[in-house]
Parts: sequence; C-alpha cells; structure tokens
Amino acid sequence: MKKNIQIAIDGPAGAGKSTIAKIVAEKLGYTYIDTGAMYRALTLKALKEHIDLENAESVTSLLAKTTIELKPSERGQLVFLDGQDVSKEIRSNEVTGNVSRVSCHATMREIMVELQRAMAERGGVVMDGRDIATAVLPNAELKVYMSATVAERARRRFEDNKQRGIDSSIEKLQEEIALRDKIDSEREASPLVQAPDAIFLDTTDLTITQAADAILKLASERMA
Ligand code: C5P
Repeated sequence: MKKNIQIAIDGPAGAGKSTIAKIVAEKLGYTYIDTGAMYRALTLKALKEHIDLENAESVTSLLAKTTIELKPSERGQLVFLDGQDVSKEIRSNEVTGNVSRVSCHATMREIMVELQRAMAERGGVVMDGRDIATAVLPNAELKVYMSATVAERARRRFEDNKQRGIDSSIEKLQEEIALRDKIDSEREASPLVQAPDAIFLDTTDLTITQAADAILKLASERMA
C-alpha cells in the first residue's frame, strides 16, 4: 500500500480541474497545488511592471526575482506574490486574457517547473495544470486528462465568476476559453496535450461529486 502518491490533473480551461482536484486532495489529506495560479501571479506582476509579455528574456528574469507561494487557509488556497495576497486579483479578466501570452515562454517555464516539482517532492499531492503529466511530474502514479465541451466550460466559468463577484458574458467567455485553449495547445513549450498514460475523463455530464469519485477510485487502485 502506497500512501502518498502524486496525482496529476491536466486539461483545458474550465474543465473543472481545480474544483475537483481540491475535493480529491481534501478527501485524501493531500496538498493541492494550483499551477495555473502561479502563471497567473507572474502575469499580474508582468502587467503591473509593464514588462513586454512577448519577450521571453524579460518574463524569465522577472520570475527569477519573484516569490510565488500557495498557502492553504480556511477560505481555500491563497496565492501570495512577493508576500502579498493576490488570490482575487489573479482571477481578473485582464490577467485571464494575458496569461497564455506569458506562459508560452520555455525559459520561464523551466524555472516554474522546478518550483512546482519542489512542492510535490514528498508526494501526497494533487497538482493541476496543463503540463503536469507531460513535464512537471512525468512519474506521477495517477494521471488524469479532464475535459468538457466548450459550451459547458464557459457556463461553469460564468457561474464561477458570478460567485467571485466578477461580471462576464457567456459568449465572451466561450470565445476567451477557445482562444486560450488554442494558444495553450499550439505553443511549442510544453503544450496542453493528453499524456499517453493519462486517463481521459469527460466531465460534461458529470456532477462535481461524480468526477471527484471517479478520481478517488482510480487513486485507491494506484495506492493498492
Ligand atoms: O488553470 P488556469 O486556467 O488558472 O491557468 C491559467 C493559464 O496558465 C493557462 O491558460 C495556461 O496558459 C497557463 N498554465 C500553463 N501550465 C500550467 C498551468 C497553467 O501554461 N501547468
């Protein structure tokens, strides 16, 4: 019986990764690591400092002098950028609209991946993102590729935003999600792709509980 496995969850925007990963982590007593939040935090800083987002060197050196921390709290996971809580700011439309332009730089990703590996070193983690199974944790005991139709993913983001007090339109969200998926899937550095040994989970018609249960079942098989 292996207790502290690594669970990698990848997939496009709004597939339900973070919601489900959080539940799975909680049920297993594991640490949840939201890698998207780390790219979002870097994007927020790049926007604030008016860094040229297309410039790999500028974005990479910006990360080299930045501290990004994920801390659990009663209100869920908090994201700290250079010691400041930016959990809400990183979900703004401006950050969401620019994060794929920042995350495409290979040299910056090398540093980010090292940070993420260090966080997952001891196992007992559920990590979600785009390249977790393919680049960050290639030896993860369980790899899941989670997806859903674009329409359903836009609807979920809309509800999510509403809860967070962010105004949005479903049509715009659908466009934004489709564009972000395109950039994330077509980039050269660690594109969003299903790892050959990942299990595909279509969450379009699943409730949150059903999707979490499916992963928990797979996890217990991998631990046995
Ligand atoms: O998961 P979330 O939607 O918050 O991710 C925001 C963006 O961060 C993605 O659209 C992608 O560009 C980038 N990302 C990435 N690799 C990861 C996680 C996120 O490139 N492992």
